[in-house]
Amino acid sequence: MVKFEEAHARLFKNVFVCKRCKSKQKSTMQRVLQGKILCKKCGGKAFRTLRKAK
Ligand SMILES: [Zn+2]
Repeated sequence: MVKFEEAHARLFKNVFVCKRCKSKQKSTMQRVLQGKILCKKCGGKAFRTLRKAK
C-alpha cells in the first residue's frame, strides 16, 4: 500500500486547479497555502486540489 500512496501523491499532490477558471497549475501544497501561486490565466489565488475536481 505504501507504493500506491507514493504514486497517488505524485499524481495529485502537486497539481492544483484554479477555482475561477479551472486551469491547472503545478505547484507544491506549501506554496499554495502561502498564497504565492497566481493563476496564469486569470491571476486568481484560489486553488483546490485536483482530487476534488470530480
Ligand atoms: Zn484561474
